[in-house]
Amino acid sequence: MLNFKTLNSQYLNGEWREGTSSLTIENKNPYNGEIIASYKAASLEDLDVAYKSSENVQKQWAKTNPIIQRNVFDKAYNIIEENREAIVDVIIDEIGGTRLKAEFEIGLVQNMLKEAASLPMRMNGSILPSPIDGKENRVYRVPVGVVGVISPFNFPFFLSMKSVAPALASGNGVVLKPHEHTPITGGTMIAKIFESAGLPKGLLNVITTEISEIGDRFVEHPIPRAISFTGSTKTGKHIGEVAGRNLKEVHLELGGNSALVVLEDADIDLAVSAAVFSRFTHQGQICMSANRIIIHEAIYDEFVEKYVSKVSTLTCGNPKDNSTIIGPLINERQVQNTVALIEKGIEEGAKPIIKGNVIGNIVEPVVFTEVTPDMTIANEEFFAPVVSIMKASSDEEAISIANQTPYGLSGAIHTRNVERGAELAKLMDTGMIHINDGTINDEPNVAFGGVKNSGVGRLNGEWSLDAFTTTKWISIQHEKRSYPYS
Ligand code: NAD
Repeated sequence: MLNFKTLNSQYLNGEWREGTSSLTIENKNPYNGEIIASYKAASLEDLDVAYKSSENVQKQWAKTNPIIQRNVFDKAYNIIEENREAIVDVIIDEIGGTRLKAEFEIGLVQNMLKEAASLPMRMNGSILPSPIDGKENRVYRVPVGVVGVISPFNFPFFLSMKSVAPALASGNGVVLKPHEHTPITGGTMIAKIFESAGLPKGLLNVITTEISEIGDRFVEHPIPRAISFTGSTKTGKHIGEVAGRNLKEVHLELGGNSALVVLEDADIDLAVSAAVFSRFTHQGQICMSANRIIIHEAIYDEFVEKYVSKVSTLTCGNPKDNSTIIGPLINERQVQNTVALIEKGIEEGAKPIIKGNVIGNIVEPVVFTEVTPDMTIANEEFFAPVVSIMKASSDEEAISIANQTPYGLSGAIHTRNVERGAELAKLMDTGMIHINDGTINDEPNVAFGGVKNSGVGRLNGEWSLDAFTTTKWISIQHEKRSYPYS
């Protein structure tokens, strides 16, 4: 059994060692404030070691037999299976996730590893005709080189792995920087799994640090050719700017404010279940959460009554308790932001028909009705168990409300007429939308990503392969070519 909770150091050049910054970071359990581990943060020198190490090993890794590469990912899958309980434990302690969330996240990671295992054998290129006599054009798919991965705090095991696994599997080196509040689940646990699975030492590096220590150097450093960022829109815009100035390829998976639309012909009980799952899982800290529920007026009262009754059954408390559905938010700052936004909602005239208490970092559910599209709570991303219910009198109005946000990540439409749903889905300004389902879906082989303020680029399956590889044109002139001037 691996012990992940002791992984309170950096993973640099295949070695576990302390960061060389003078800063010590405390990794705290968000439910009870207990310190899980303290660690010395990585410095700029450590970051440099990380990138150089990945660069040094990458070329050899890219030439490695694809079956040997594939075996690493298969092995990582098995290591996760063997250490499932230890992983569940650390997800509960470090992130405040419930057991259900932990199991859900582990499942996503394992699916991602299976997909990644297929990538080494999918590095195919093409042979193209040429207008020049006797020329053969070969277009090879090649790894970009070294990829810098930055991940958020909410699903760190999965959201780090979602870029790390396909980037490695397509022949790259990777430097991973998890969120400072989830250094183990988003960082060192992944390094330990790959180390145990036989990934060549030095190919994957993990630095855990505060941004105040390294500034923008993670993106600006000359070695990484691509940056894969998952996090808030505010930070993502900054990362995009820095990456652009330094001509790095950048993939941005950002915030959301997804709408779940319920039409008058929907299966209401199904829609209620999907809407509750989509808003309250992991206490609403999911980018695809159904923050806004838009209900056709003909079924509004029935839906709201059933929704409220279901939300009232959600148990809040210690995530270690298997019956808990809503655990703590990640930190006090998130709680304060949430409380301020709830107060803003009340001030602007929304009606809280359920308003729970705030106990430590636990925010009990809040359900707002009478929310209008101009209100702040309808426009900003609530990363908490707070929902806005809105009314629409037609399909057009429902879609117009759904699209009235700067975000465009996910969404859902409930109707018994699936083709009506599919037609309306085309009008929703989002990267992803689901008919008769929740808003939270992520499948290893299907394009994932947002439009507008929700991001740039797509990940998963062949889209990850495109994200972490580039092409190289090699032409061969078989017949002697005649040139001018000769
Ligand atoms: P955040 O933007 O605060 O932080 C994300 C990461 O960026 C952290 O690791 C942070 O340390 C790092 N960071 C900040 N400044 C940096 C810099 N200059 N250089 C390098 N790294 C830097 O986001 P968060 O609070 O951790 O996550 C929540 C947000 O993420 C929400 O908005 C949520 O919707 C979004 N999210 C999006 C997706 C998606 O797939 N679209 C998935 C999960 C979360």
